[in-house]
Amino acid sequence: MSKPVFRFAPSPNGHLHLGHALSALLNARAAVALGGRLLVRVEDIDQTRCTPELERDMFQDLAWLGLRWEQPVVRQSDCFAFYREALERLQDTGLVYPAYLTRAEIKTFVSDREAEGASWPRDPDGAPLYPGDAAVLIEEKRERRAASGASFALRLDMKKAQERIGKQLFWEELGAEGPALFEPARKIAVDASAWGDVVLARKDTPTSYHLSVVVDDARQGITDVLRGQDLYHATSVHRVLQELLALPVPRYRHHRLILGDDGRKLSKSNSDTSLRSLRAAGMTHAQLRKRIGL
Ligand code: GLU
Repeated sequence: MSKPVFRFAPSPNGHLHLGHALSALLNARAAVALGGRLLVRVEDIDQTRCTPELERDMFQDLAWLGLRWEQPVVRQSDCFAFYREALERLQDTGLVYPAYLTRAEIKTFVSDREAEGASWPRDPDGAPLYPGDAAVLIEEKRERRAASGASFALRLDMKKAQERIGKQLFWEELGAEGPALFEPARKIAVDASAWGDVVLARKDTPTSYHLSVVVDDARQGITDVLRGQDLYHATSVHRVLQELLALPVPRYRHHRLILGDDGRKLSKSNSDTSLRSLRAAGMTHAQLRKRIGL
């Protein structure tokens, strides 16, 4: 069997925190335990929030963690041509449509419905599902927006995509650490309807997180995607895109999350748990490992 290939794929849109340390170290440990390789991928498609300074700090943090990874590192901002090509292939299937509603319009539509007592479905991240332009904009207004060059998102028609695929999809879920790394895979049924019509790209950005991640995992020959439990449900969307684009399917290993003292998921906006500030406050490697349960 060929060597497993793992990747740690952070976004330099803020400083890395304890949760990233856990993810990076679990990827490194799993690669060693399974005789595999480790790649680092810089997920910097959001060119307004990701900066060269944050990327430099990120590599310093990873070096401090003692992480070793292969060179060269793939930077998503260098790969837009690959995403554009994948997007065009999806557009050719007729399953992608330009969606003109602004975030504020979606919000108003949903709160109006909820004020009437109707519930509106939300995706696993808590965002309301896209209602479809037709539900909100009269056709004439939609055409005017399209003609005036208004901004839009390219969305996947999830219902049609599932009909096109025509079968229940699955992924293989395995353990992320310790003896569980070697346990047999569990077969997880994909539930992509829970996400509704996901965004694949925007007028000025030829990709979204979901699209670039599946394209890169395939291009880089990733066999094992080991990442946080917060991305568990996103795997359903990734499976649909892999199927539509005929991409190879990696195994998935979602790991536990590190919670802050308030019991909530850590966020890059809270500098108290950033690796930089903990390091500056004198935290040692041993203390770090203890804090993240390694
Ligand atoms: N770039 C994503 C993040 O920092 C991780 C993507 C992934 O592992 O699939 O949350």
